[in-house]
Formats: sequence, C-alpha cells, structure tokens
Amino acid sequence: MSGLRALLAVVLVCLLPTGCGESDAFPEDSTMARIRERGVLTVGIKFDQPMFGYKDPASGRITGFDAEMARLVAKDLTGSERNIRFVETVSRERENFISQGVVDLVVATYSITPARAERVSFTDPYYYAGQDMLVRAGDSTINQVSDLDGKTVCTATGSTSVDRLRTTVPTAELEIVDAYSICVPALVAGRVDAISTDNTILLGLLAQHPDTLRLVGKPFGREPYGIGIRKQDAAFRDYLNGLIARWLRDGQWDRAFMATIGVGGATSESSRPATR
Ligand code: GLU
Repeated sequence: MSGLRALLAVVLVCLLPTGCGESDAFPEDSTMARIRERGVLTVGIKFDQPMFGYKDPASGRITGFDAEMARLVAKDLTGSERNIRFVETVSRERENFISQGVVDLVVATYSITPARAERVSFTDPYYYAGQDMLVRAGDSTINQVSDLDGKTVCTATGSTSVDRLRTTVPTAELEIVDAYSICVPALVAGRVDAISTDNTILLGLLAQHPDTLRLVGKPFGREPYGIGIRKQDAAFRDYLNGLIARWLRDGQWDRAFMATIGVGGATSESSRPATR
C-alpha cells in the first residue's frame, strides 16, 4: 500500500463514529483493522468462573479479570469498551473457537502450552496461576496434592489441570466434566472429594461457598495465562503484546486486579508478570 493510501485509511477510520483507539493506524489487511472497521470485538471467555469470567445471572454483565483485559482491547481497537461481544467458551472449545473464527480472541484462564501452540498462537503471559485443590471445609484429610491418592477429583475436559493430575497423582480417580462450576454441587454433596484446577478459579468458587468449602493452598505447577488468537497472526499477537506491556506499566493491570480478584483481599505478587 502506498504511503498516501495508508494515510487516507487512517484518516477515514478516525472519522468513523467509534473514532480511533489509543493505538495508531493499522495496516489495512490486519486483524486489528478488520475489527476496528467492524466496530465489535468478539471474545471467547468463561461464563462460570467468578473473578475471571462470570456472567452475572441478574444483570447479564460479564465480570472478572479476563473480562477487564478483553474490555481494554475493545477500547483500544474500537474506541469503547462496550463494543464487545462475549461468547461462552469452555476449556475444551478454546482452540476450536479460535481456529474456526467463532471469536477474534480467547481470554479464558487459558494456559500457554506447546501442545495448544500447535493450533493457536498466544500472547506473552498476562497472568500466572498455580494448580491447587478445593475441598469440603470439614475434610481434614487433604492437605497436599499427594493426599488425592485414592480420592475422587473433579476437573474440566481439555484443561491442563487434567493432564497434571494424571501425571502427579495417577492414583486419583478423575471426574471430568465440561466446566468447573459443575464440580461445585458434586463436592458439596460429597459425590467427589476435591476440585482441582488453577487456584484463581478455585478462589472464585470458594467465594460462593466460604463456609462449606476450603482452598488447600498448596499450588503445584505454574500456569501462565495468554490471550489465544489465530495461529500465525504475528501482527495481531505483537499488537496485543504491546497492549499487555502497556497495562503493566500504566497501572491498568493493577486496577483490573483490584477491581476483580483483589476485592476479597488477594494480593497480586505471585500472579503479576514483570513490567516490561
Ligand atoms: N489454566 C488451565 C487451562 O488452561 C486450567 C483452567 C481452565 O481450564 O480454564 O487449561
């Protein structure tokens, strides 16, 4: 594209009702330009994980840290955080939804792994979690991961949590379901002995049952969360990496943390990536 045409494209985009985001012009054929032109960012997110991605049953609003990250992207691309469409994306659908173009990106407690990177691309980590266990408050027999030996443990299909349980405690019996929220009534009713996944997800579930459940608090394994996008879209990945780096520098990351995960008093030191 000639310099003049590029300039014209910028001017035209900036005349749209949504205006320009904070970022500068994008190459005409880029994912960023397409989303800006469409005026809506489509985001795959969890709907049942309080503090990360949660659809409030009363208001219908999607809340949580992942939702805040997505809104910041929408704001930058379209001029408003409201120009966003959230699509519920359970763990096992994440790669599918990205590669089939159902969503522009997935921000859904999505760990960066080499196996997944065969099918999708990831940004740099925007958050670090660790796998942990949620048990009944009255159960004093589970205090570390090896105590899951012989117990029934609930977790979700298509997650790193399943894989790590299989390698760390092969003697645990796994109850594998579509979404972590399905595990909660099973745990409360005694049909399973524990739920195991990222500590951050478990904290959100615990907040709904503070008197009946207990977080063991012995994380095993580190889970770096990235934003998932279509494979080989290096320009979109670089753009998103630039945004994440900016949020870590300018306080937006910390504000999003305090407004979501931090509300219950959690601190961010083990989960915050270094400022870059
Ligand atoms: N972060 C882990 C994963 O991506 C577990 C949480 C989840 O399933 O969303 O598999």
